[in-house]
Amino acid sequence: MRDPLHSLSVRLKLPLLVAGVCLLAFGVGGTIVSTSARDALEAEILQRLDAECRASADALDAELTLLTRRVQDFASDGYVRDRLDRVLAADRSAAAELRDHLARNKLPLVAAFHELAVQGPDGHGLVAVRAAADRLLVPGLSASDALDAPWHSDRLQGSAALDAPQVVIAVPVEDLAGQRRLGRLLAFVPIDAWIAAARVVDARRMRVATSAVRGALHLTDRAGARSDVGASESPPDHAGRSTFARSLVLPINGWQLHTEVDAEQALAPVSGLQSRFLAAGVLLAALSGGLLFFPMRFLVAPLQALQLAAQRLAAGDLTARVAVASSDEVGGLASAFNAMADALADRTSRIEHANAALRDSKRELVAERDRLNAVLASMRDAVVLVGPDGEVILRNAAAAPLVAPLLSRASELAGRHRCYAEGARDGDCATCLLDPGATARACLVDVAGATFEMQAVPVTALPGGPPGRLLVARDVSDRIERDLQMIHQERLAALGEVAAVMAHELNNPLAAISMFQQLLRDALPADSPHREAIDAIGRSTTSCRQAIRELLDYTTGAQAEVAEVALNDAVEGAARFVEPLAKRSRVEVVHRLAPEQPTLVGDEVQLRQLFVNLALNAVQAIGGAGGSGRVALEVAVVDGQARVAVIDDGPGIPDPVRPRLFQPFFTTKRRGAGTGLGLATARRIAELHGGRVELESSRPGRTVFQVSFGPRRADAFRAGAPT
Ligand code: ADP
Repeated sequence: MRDPLHSLSVRLKLPLLVAGVCLLAFGVGGTIVSTSARDALEAEILQRLDAECRASADALDAELTLLTRRVQDFASDGYVRDRLDRVLAADRSAAAELRDHLARNKLPLVAAFHELAVQGPDGHGLVAVRAAADRLLVPGLSASDALDAPWHSDRLQGSAALDAPQVVIAVPVEDLAGQRRLGRLLAFVPIDAWIAAARVVDARRMRVATSAVRGALHLTDRAGARSDVGASESPPDHAGRSTFARSLVLPINGWQLHTEVDAEQALAPVSGLQSRFLAAGVLLAALSGGLLFFPMRFLVAPLQALQLAAQRLAAGDLTARVAVASSDEVGGLASAFNAMADALADRTSRIEHANAALRDSKRELVAERDRLNAVLASMRDAVVLVGPDGEVILRNAAAAPLVAPLLSRASELAGRHRCYAEGARDGDCATCLLDPGATARACLVDVAGATFEMQAVPVTALPGGPPGRLLVARDVSDRIERDLQMIHQERLAALGEVAAVMAHELNNPLAAISMFQQLLRDALPADSPHREAIDAIGRSTTSCRQAIRELLDYTTGAQAEVAEVALNDAVEGAARFVEPLAKRSRVEVVHRLAPEQPTLVGDEVQLRQLFVNLALNAVQAIGGAGGSGRVALEVAVVDGQARVAVIDDGPGIPDPVRPRLFQPFFTTKRRGAGTGLGLATARRIAELHGGRVELESSRPGRTVFQVSFGPRRADAFRAGAPT
């Protein structure tokens, strides 16, 4: 639950709390106490009122009884009875004597009696002390009333003859013999006198609890007419105000006695109780709040100092501390804060040191990484780090041609090399190399036209992660090519030896055949039918010797005679050499020489052999296609480089043949027509002279072989041994 006074300062909170508690306690307590007191007082008032009402009623009843007895005493007086009897007998002086007697001897005897009167048996007034007897009418008093027993008026008497409301007591009067009812004696008693005689409690000064309150007491006759007690004082006006009231019926005449007191006045002793409690609460709250406010200031000041220090600490000021001014809880808090600040400063300093060390390490790592990247980038070997899911995490530039086919398991990866790893399928090199669970593997793979030697080792690609694969691949195409060449050279060397022996063995019979063919030819007459056969033998012998020579040239290499060679002359000589053969195939051989007269350092015979080989191929290609065509040998100097182009309009070279053109012993010609050594020899001679031979273009009707020479010195020529 949130503190409802969270936005208030602590120094105000406790005083306010205490003040609130005081107000609450005194408010509730005051309400309870005042309610209880009021209830108790009300009960007390009602009880007292009841008692006083009863006492007053008893007193009034007793007093009226007493007054009635006095009237009866008066009525039993012999003088009164005699004179009344005489009055009834129409004795005129008797009435005066009776009146005097009553006035002198009876009326003064009882102070409460205001008037005494005598009525005849028919209720007619005969004698009255103060008023005219015939005017004293008593309402409700019938002729028979009071002839047998005392009678009390049931209504207030208030005629013109009477000064104040009165009660009338009537008792019968008998004759002296006690035989007849002569009439009745009436006594008029003012209400005030009755009450005064009864010494009724003064209701107007009724004591309730500790104080006297104003009250009211009045009588009500049976008809409901009211007579306030104490007519001299004005009765309290209770109209519109609440009162406490009690009523009782007087047994003697059935009148009602009412007593009442003003409720507000009666409850006055407790009416201010609640507000007094509240005032006391307010006073106590103000006092306690004021008293607490100052001690709280001393409590709050160190807390504020702590707060400021904590804020400074939070803003980075690690020197923030607070003074420990006491050994109480606040002092303990300050000590704990200082200890925490010390620990924080210590921890921060250690973190800063660690941070600096980390920064240094990071710098070193970055430098190391840059070095590693530089090494990786400069490596000719391809390096690829593959994650457990086959994703490339790291690779260098040399790996560019490898990555895509490797990851897509391209079919070209299914190289000509067989993997003998356990469980590997034939040709499935990528799966074998990239299998994250496999041990170290190595294999040769053909990718993107080159052959790579691949090493794959398991490595943890990511810290704490599953193993990936580190692939290191080296392009070994050149090495393989060199190996193949070496094998080829070895084969040629062996072949050369065989060729040399065979040439030696064949040259002698061929020389003999050639010599005897010449002798036979010379011996035959010019028109001999055998002359053609002899010529055929001569041509075949020459062809054999030429083939043997070519074979010897290629396998062993002819002994070069190095000199400055005019390229134009070599080309011109080659053209002249092939012309006879060309004519037979109806092929025209032309040459266009370079005006710069380029020269080369080399062997003129070998160079002429180079151009002859190219030109012969061109002539044979045209001849093989039916003959009739043109072969051009063009010498030019381009960018300081001597070039010779051999161009023919033959059928062209088919695409599948092109990659194998320069392979030794590759030929498309029929058996015996070609050795497959022409272009291989041409390339060897060109390379020996620092140049190269290329098929520049070929299509039906135009085939161009280009021979280009780089600058090559004589000493370099000597140094480069024919291969
Ligand atoms: P050979 O001439 O003994 O066959 P080469 O090495 O000189 O050996 O030639 C190899 C092959 O190249 C020939 O068999 C031929 O098919 C092809 N060739 C060379 N030059 C041409 C050309 N100008 N036109 C068409 N084919 C040619």
